[in-house]
Amino acid sequence: MSILVINCGSSSVKYELFDMSDNSVISKGVVERIGGTTSSIKHEVPKHDVYFKKRANAPDHLTAVELIRNVLSDAEFGVITNVAEVTGVGHRVVHGGEEFHESTLIDKTVLKCIQKCCKLAPLHNPPALEGITACMKIFENVPQVAVFDTAFHHSMPEHVYMYGIPYKFYKKFGIRKYGFHGTSHRYVSKKASEILKKPLEKINLITVHLGNGCSIAAVSGGVSIDTSMGFTPLEGLVMGTRSGDMDPAVVTFLMQEEAMSVDDMNTMLNKKSGLLGISGISNDMRDLLTEMHAGNPRAKLAYDTFVYRILKYIGAYAAALGSVDAVVFTAGIGENVPEIKNEIKQQLSSLLKGAEFMSIRTNEELLIAIDTFEVIKRGPQETDTNNGGINA
Ligand code: ADP
Repeated sequence: MSILVINCGSSSVKYELFDMSDNSVISKGVVERIGGTTSSIKHEVPKHDVYFKKRANAPDHLTAVELIRNVLSDAEFGVITNVAEVTGVGHRVVHGGEEFHESTLIDKTVLKCIQKCCKLAPLHNPPALEGITACMKIFENVPQVAVFDTAFHHSMPEHVYMYGIPYKFYKKFGIRKYGFHGTSHRYVSKKASEILKKPLEKINLITVHLGNGCSIAAVSGGVSIDTSMGFTPLEGLVMGTRSGDMDPAVVTFLMQEEAMSVDDMNTMLNKKSGLLGISGISNDMRDLLTEMHAGNPRAKLAYDTFVYRILKYIGAYAAALGSVDAVVFTAGIGENVPEIKNEIKQQLSSLLKGAEFMSIRTNEELLIAIDTFEVIKRGPQETDTNNGGINA
């Protein structure tokens, strides 16, 4: 029983094949620079110590998935002899809008709903759709499952996800907080309950995902009750290149004063802000730590701003939860920079007396594989959708 997990970006397709008898990785890799002249495929079979990277022809996502199928069934390095050996394909889909509460078997109706959500995530959903349609062709008759980044946060109450702008924009465009990184927050919540040896239903957690994108969630009894990312992944914490929270008037001010277009503003907020924008050095925490330890004041300012925003959110979510059993750090920075966790733990020692502070390695791919396996086992059901009358 093997499940193939596919994670499509605009110019890359990551894949990971899991053996569901023990949840181990059979094989994984990535097709990069799709559509460019230097496309390549990296492929790894960890159990057999196989690793290679080679140039490949991948003008689009369909050829990329074809390459993946070929490499997986290659006579020398391959791990499957027939695509039918793959029990199912699980797809990471960033935005499920208000439509999807949980991972879902993909059929025509689901494809249409994901398409509808492209408006909400124009950078993320279209490549995911391309990956899904490619896999439906290349892995024909293999069930396909969509696992949404937004689904875990579907439990947020209305007063949490509503923005303080005219209600008509919620009805017209679906403008509200959705939240992202749901698979990671869900995965580490479950792991934390195992470490704490307490049932997930009985604990309150604050999960802090610090990668290139950063978000934080308040999880009560295994259910997300609030999260820092919003309508898009731009809201909340200071991130590698994204601004996170700020006065929205800054946007109109700068557009006027600097004659910035909508595209300019989008690029500034998403690609030139955050750690990179403040430091003027890098979006990479490793570079910033090196510079900061060498005495660079802008690197220190970026680091301090980053940490303070996390601290503030943890305080807010402690208030939302009432009590906190553990604060869980995860992803590239959360797993590898213990000084951030330690600094925050020290500052919150009296406010969060008794709460554990821990780092847990996230594994979104594994959770996508597990969900895919479970959804396929369960079989076709009524699509769990609720469009709430929104025309997004
Ligand atoms: P993504 O969101 O792309 O999955 P990751 O979870 O890989 O990102 O996190 C990337 C961030 O983690 C980068 O800022 C990187 O500098 C940081 N990071 C990764 N490893 C380390 C490390 N050993 N020490 C400090 N920072 C690290």
